[in-house]
Amino acid sequence: MPSEFSFINQIRQRATTGANNLILGIGDDAAIWREHEGRERLISTDLLIEDVHFKLDYTSLACLGHKALAVSLSDIAAMGGRPEFALLSLGLPKSKLADLNWQDFFDGYFSLAQKYGVALIGGDTSASPDKVVIDSVVIGTCASGKAIRRSGAKMGEAIYVTGRLGASAMGLELLQRGERLPTQSPDKKAEAIRAHLQPEPRVKFGENLGTLGLATALMDVSDGLAQDLSHICEESGVDAVLEYDVLPIAPSVRELAGTIDKAFSFAISGGEDYELLFTANPEAEAALKKCASECALEITRIGEIMARQNPQEGPRIFLRRNGRVDLLSITGYDHFRA
Ligand code: ADP
Ligand code: MG
Repeated sequence: MPSEFSFINQIRQRATTGANNLILGIGDDAAIWREHEGRERLISTDLLIEDVHFKLDYTSLACLGHKALAVSLSDIAAMGGRPEFALLSLGLPKSKLADLNWQDFFDGYFSLAQKYGVALIGGDTSASPDKVVIDSVVIGTCASGKAIRRSGAKMGEAIYVTGRLGASAMGLELLQRGERLPTQSPDKKAEAIRAHLQPEPRVKFGENLGTLGLATALMDVSDGLAQDLSHICEESGVDAVLEYDVLPIAPSVRELAGTIDKAFSFAISGGEDYELLFTANPEAEAALKKCASECALEITRIGEIMARQNPQEGPRIFLRRNGRVDLLSITGYDHFRA
């Protein structure tokens, strides 16, 4: 088993040192970076706890390393910013440090970090009694005043989402049923499982949305589309209506969910898709589509923002289906739900 010092040294050797604006990375009591006038900082942190967020019997360490960074990159993208630096704190049970190859974890982590030019500049390492605990922090930047909050959606604006929804929740269900990578059928099952274990954050599109300045509210889909949209509506003081017919359900979900109702439910309440959900004036659609296609992404217009019907109550999300508009009951992930 490596000592704490040699473990950290291995990380240090793999971390980029020549990053833009970085003065001092791993190795001292704190990291140092250079600030720039006219820019603002974004910072976000995510906990990943064994048996809450992942199980070691169904994720590879490479996928886990990828996902630990991916979820935080997604948060920076969801503000319209560009990720620059990362911090990573690990709590590792001694037995799991000895028995598992943690270099695989760093293969997954650093290959995603390199893809987006993010430098790991520090963290902390500790023994943990029983479970693996990961705290992933990403620090990003955007031009002053250009960050896109959840609070900017206005009545009459269109609601868009990138990519397709539901595959991650489908993948989790497959894993819980005992499917593993590689699956017997390397196609749709593998696609869904990969979406869960190795999500691709929409880093470039998020940054470009921030620069473009056309989205009025933005967040990533981590708890389920309906619940996340209700957060935008809450912060913006509005309601929303979603269009059943156009909801972009992932092909793997259509094929594997069993029924269309179940596929719809994965797409609307399954979490961890890490797609970007945003609102904009419908007149901006052509520019937004161009911006998406430059990032090799599709965006779909899935609904519209409405005035808050009852200002005394919370936000409401409606669903238009077969010419009827009904209130959608919002279910998504809640860690403390009984
Ligand atoms: P301290 O005693 O100040 O906590 P450490 O010995 O834990 O310092 O860390 C030494 C250096 O290694 C610091 O620069 C710290 O940021 C970095 N470091 C420790 N653990 C990690 C990790 N898991 N990932 C990245 N950097 C780490
Ligand atoms: Mg320490």
